[in-house]
This record gives sequence, C-alpha cells and structure tokens, in this order.
Amino acid sequence: QAKKNGKGTYVILDETTRNQALSRLELENDLRKALEEEKLDLYYQPIFCLKNNIIKGFEALIRWNHPQFGFISPQLFVSIAEEIGLINWLNDFVLTKACHQLGIWFSSFRNFPHIFVNVNLSIINLSQSNITEKIDYFLTQKLFPESCLKIEITEGCLEDATSSTFEILNKINDRGINLCIDDFGTGYSSLSRLHSLPIKTLKIDKSFVDKIGTQVSSQTIIKTILALAHSLEMEVVAEGVENKMQKDILTYLGCDFAQGYFYSPPLDVNSATDFLASVFE
Ligand code: C2E
Ligand code: MG
Ligand code: MG
Ligand code: MG
Repeated sequence: QAKKNGKGTYVILDETTRNQALSRLELENDLRKALEEEKLDLYYQPIFCLKNNIIKGFEALIRWNHPQFGFISPQLFVSIAEEIGLINWLNDFVLTKACHQLGIWFSSFRNFPHIFVNVNLSIINLSQSNITEKIDYFLTQKLFPESCLKIEITEGCLEDATSSTFEILNKINDRGINLCIDDFGTGYSSLSRLHSLPIKTLKIDKSFVDKIGTQVSSQTIIKTILALAHSLEMEVVAEGVENKMQKDILTYLGCDFAQGYFYSPPLDVNSATDFLASVFE
C-alpha cells in the first residue's frame, strides 16, 4: 500500500498493487473527480540563496492524497492528466491555488523581502488554454507583484513545443513573470531554442547534483551550465541538494540558488507559513 513517509513525500505504487487494485481507468476517473472536488493540494519547497543561506522563494508541487492509496506520484498523475485532456484544468488549479497563497503570504509578510513562488506548468496543450487571461486576471487583482510569480517548464517539453506555445510563453514573460527551465541538462534543447525564449532561470536537474563528489564529469557539466547561464544573464537553481558537501561545492562553483532535502522537503501550506514566520519574525 502506498502511504505517506516521514518526509511528506509519496510512495510510488508498485506495479502489482496498481494492477490488482487500481486499473488505469479507475485512476483516470478518480483524478477527474479529485479535480472536480478540488481534492488536490499544493506543497511548497523552500528555495535558498547559496551565498547568504536565506530563503528566497518556494516551488509549488502538486499532491494528490488518494483516499485508498495515499499519496500518488505527481509524475504519474500529471502525465495521465496530459494524456486524457485534463492538463489545462490541472494547470489552472495549480496556478489559482499558488496565486491565492502568494497573495496571503504577501499581505501577511508585507515588510519582508519578496518571496517568490515557482509554479510548474505543463506546456502540452498550452495553446488550447486561456492561461494568459488567467494570469492577467490575477495580476489585475494586485495581490502580489508580478515578479513574485515564476513559471517552470521542463526542458524535455520544449522539444515539441509549437510556435503558438512560444507565443504564449513570450506573453507570460511580457507580463513580468519569469520563466525557468526545469530539469535542465536532461533534455536536448538547442542553444538557439533556449535563446529564442526569454528564460531567466535554469534549474540543474537532480541527477547531476546527485553525482557531485563521486563523478568528476557531473561537476564539469554543472560548471558548464553555470558558465552558459551566467553569460546569458540567467540565474541557476540546483535541484535535489541532499547534503552539505553538495551545497558547499555548488556554492564554490558559483551556483545561485538551491533546493532539496538538505534545506527542507516540500511543506504543506501551514508548515510553509510557519517556516516563513520563523525566518522573518
Ligand atoms: P520537478 O518540478 O523537477 O520537482 C522537483 C521534484 O524533486 C519534486 O518531486 C520534489 O519533491 C523532489 N525533490 C526536491 N528535493 C529533493 C531531494 O533533495 N531529494 C529527492 N530525492 N527529491 C527531491 P515531486 O513533487 O514528486 O514532483 C515530481 C515532478 O512532477 C516535478 O518535478 C514536476 O515535473 C511534476 N510536478 C509536480 N507538481 C506539479 C504541478 O503542480 N504541475 C505540473 N505540471 N507538474 C508538476
Ligand atoms: Mg519544477
Ligand atoms: Mg526539476
Ligand atoms: Mg523533475
């Protein structure tokens, strides 16, 4: 049985459990229902500045606590949502929830440094969505400065992005919302493709961070990503930092930001608020 472990993460259902207990169709129906009833949740993982060890923002990560099976991997259900046409609905839900929370944090921690929230958006079918209207709606409410909202898109998805998707991403950037490339280093985005988009941040995939200290080549790759990003005036976040050695080497190499279990796991909204309060009060 899948259940929550101590770090607030999920346990992936193993194949047998899934086959026996939960058909794909059931999972699809349950996901649709969970979206309808707004039973999905966002967790928030702190992102730290490596130079001064201060929290700069959060990444919003979706969670689905299935009534029978516990926490289900977002990787699994986000891809299901993409396949069965629920992804724009899911994007909408995540964006709405994150903006709402950003508004709450911004008003309750008004004299604190601007905390940003990164939202993961799937760009599959993005051109069939009203995402820019949605974003404009939140920005006109003036709940938070536009620079507090950032959008993460995965490098892998960029490969088959269409020109209308690029148009939308450019519009989002025009609104003052920064774009981040997630899982950088695992896809095959060409330099020209990267350069044709207004990217402000690269997130180094965890697989490179994992090998810091054990595989020289991964350190070389990280150095190269940092040099590339900084020469294009982009910032770099290291993902999945789990120990002090990784953090120290990333700091030494000049990486800007880091997130990972070394700092904090993704937190539910109350714990994230407590976290902010403990730092800023
Ligand atoms: P991602 O955007 O690259 O998110 C980082 C993942 O690494 C998260 O997994 C996070 O919990 C995990 N992580 C963070 N620090 C550590 C660490 O130190 N060690 C380890 N082992 N893991 C760490 P999560 O939450 O399971 O999400 C997996 C992926 O699902 C995300 O990868 C993202 O691609 C997708 N996803 C999550 N939330 C959303 C969402 O709201 N919308 C969309 N479209 N996709 C989402
Ligand atoms: Mg992400
Ligand atoms: Mg990532
Ligand atoms: Mg990932």
